[in-house]
Amino acid sequence: MNSLELQQLHKSYGTVTAVHDVSLNLPAGSRTAIVGPSGSGKTTLLRMIAGFEFPDRGRISLNGQVLVDDEGALPAHQRLIGYVPQDGALFPHMNVAANIGFGLPGKMAAKQTRIDELLDMVALDPAMGTRWPHELSGGQQQRVALARALAQRPRLMLLDEPFSALDTGLRASMRKTVARLLADAGITTILVTHDQAEALSFADQLAVMRQGHLVQSGPPLELYRHPRDAQTALFLGDAVVLPARLEQGLAHCDLGPVPIADPARQGPAQIMLRPEQLQWTAGGAHSGATPGCAGVVRDWDFAGNHCTLSVAITTADGSQQLLPVPAGGLQAPAPGSRVWITPQGQAHVLDSRDLCGRRPAPAGP
Ligand code: ADP
Ligand code: MG
Repeated sequence: MNSLELQQLHKSYGTVTAVHDVSLNLPAGSRTAIVGPSGSGKTTLLRMIAGFEFPDRGRISLNGQVLVDDEGALPAHQRLIGYVPQDGALFPHMNVAANIGFGLPGKMAAKQTRIDELLDMVALDPAMGTRWPHELSGGQQQRVALARALAQRPRLMLLDEPFSALDTGLRASMRKTVARLLADAGITTILVTHDQAEALSFADQLAVMRQGHLVQSGPPLELYRHPRDAQTALFLGDAVVLPARLEQGLAHCDLGPVPIADPARQGPAQIMLRPEQLQWTAGGAHSGATPGCAGVVRDWDFAGNHCTLSVAITTADGSQQLLPVPAGGLQAPAPGSRVWITPQGQAHVLDSRDLCGRRPAPAGP
């Protein structure tokens, strides 16, 4: 069953369209990551769900209850939605306990048990309750903001780049802690991030936004394997994007013929392979019937247990293209080595339509 349903949400500020006809469903208890570059409309979308902004048109419903549509809107404080904004935004004049207990009913003494429970949930010592926000590290502040949002027993949790101020190690451990905590509580969650690795590891549904459009949504692995277009492919990781001619289930490209999923596709297209689909062997000569192409290692990016080679191949028009090719750290061929690159598995055919669904004009007169 879906918990949150967004239907054709649209929001403009003057001439800027921040959110363009976005529709998205969130199954109950699921974790959705919304990714996209800065300015793509992620925060605006969350603020409309929370009730701090109002769409020009469209409809939002939660567990079957309409939160906003053409008829009106439920005020933010009646929505039972937890919201952790981008900067955490703790009340600076209140200590940690008062921040967490802010929305709880009753006197402070009565709230104390619940506050201690919430501090424990976000792995903070109960003694932290008497600290002031400025006495906390960035990670601790984010956890207090999360505890404050959890205090309301929300039906939905909205997290706007909550880990962006944290350093890499703390970021990964916070992400795991928060993911486990929300999953244990069964709370439907949206995490906004511009970090693709964070999104891929956190979510069971990924939604990619660009220029206010929801470009694509689905399970992380599905989007990683079958991104809609080249920009989405590159946003979710390294990718090899090549022009190709499709014919009888094969994409003919600079890497030779590579199988594609749909044999009915014909004609010119753009294809994508992930670097992990490229295998190298020493020597640039074509060995027997091995498909692939010859290349020269231009550079290597050594990271201990793995290494990414930059392999130059010569394309059909005579120019050079660099391919990222993974290699084991100890066996990696040195720059200058000649290698043979073999594609593995299927190439993915990219969509040539723009965000509004228009096809590019045919080239030439
Ligand atoms: P993101 O969170 O993805 O970085 P935002 O939702 O903050 O993107 O912004 C989307 C677009 O809407 C941007 O072009 C931004 O400048 C514009 N925008 C956001 N909020 C406002 C506002 N209150 N007034 C005017 N323009 C806004
Ligand atoms: Mg934002």
